[in-house]
Amino acid sequence: MPESDYLVKAISKNGAFRAIAVSINNLSEEARQKHNLSHTATVALGRTFACGILLCYTLKKTKGHLTLKIKGNGPLGGIIVDASNEGTVRGYVNHPQVECFDKKGYVDIDKAVGKTGYIHVSYDAEKGSPHHSSSELVSGEIAKDIVHYLAISEQIPSYISCGVYLDPDLGKVLQAGGILIQTMPGTKDKDLNVLEEAVSKIDPFSILLRSGFTLEQIIKKTLANFEIEIVSEFEGLCFHCGCSQERFESAITSLDKKEIKEIIKEVGYAEGRCHFCSSVYMVSKEQLELLIKRQS
Ligand SMILES: [Zn+2]
Repeated sequence: MPESDYLVKAISKNGAFRAIAVSINNLSEEARQKHNLSHTATVALGRTFACGILLCYTLKKTKGHLTLKIKGNGPLGGIIVDASNEGTVRGYVNHPQVECFDKKGYVDIDKAVGKTGYIHVSYDAEKGSPHHSSSELVSGEIAKDIVHYLAISEQIPSYISCGVYLDPDLGKVLQAGGILIQTMPGTKDKDLNVLEEAVSKIDPFSILLRSGFTLEQIIKKTLANFEIEIVSEFEGLCFHCGCSQERFESAITSLDKKEIKEIIKEVGYAEGRCHFCSSVYMVSKEQLELLIKRQS
């Protein structure tokens, strides 16, 4: 199994289904460290990473990025993930310190996300206008909500399983990933029934990963009654944010002179934290004064 985060695409040879599976242990752990996430927030963001990447890779466009926003009425607030078809992903949770456990001591995602709210998906391709769609939350458990979203907005019957398994003491991500099976146009009811029967018996995704199965093996287990052809594999999935000191400075430059003067007077310097990756950027008083001079 590759050490890096990776993705596998497959189809059933009878043309009924396509499958995408992702393993994202490293990027989920990186996000946990960058944002200092609680156990609950790590699981919620990891599941949303998996779903965001899966949705992004169902799109035919070769260049673009997909933003997946889940906003429930639970204590985590919103969860936002931005994934590109080049394999980069970034994201954050509004309230990263929130913990929610059930009576057995397991992370309670439904409660943390909330059962009422919405999913919003927007896709920006390099060419053409952005595409937006949304649906209501149905469970707060994330995978089920995305399946509902795909049924409502894309009219595509799908199956998704995703999971994040943490070191119980340290909260470190040990396994994270997900699988999406989509029906193709014209899929027969007979094939759908076979799939439904198979997925009702399969273990949750994080357990399959913990058991040492590769993504290819998980796809084959999930579509056990069908002959599978692996279409492609991609090993470059990673956490990446495009923010930089330069971009922060240009955002400050876009403020008008009066606003920059107010920052100098009230704080003395400008500081900003990127929501997506928690990087902190600073512009000193001297630099701010220089920006005002350049605007004059
Ligand atoms: Zn950033």
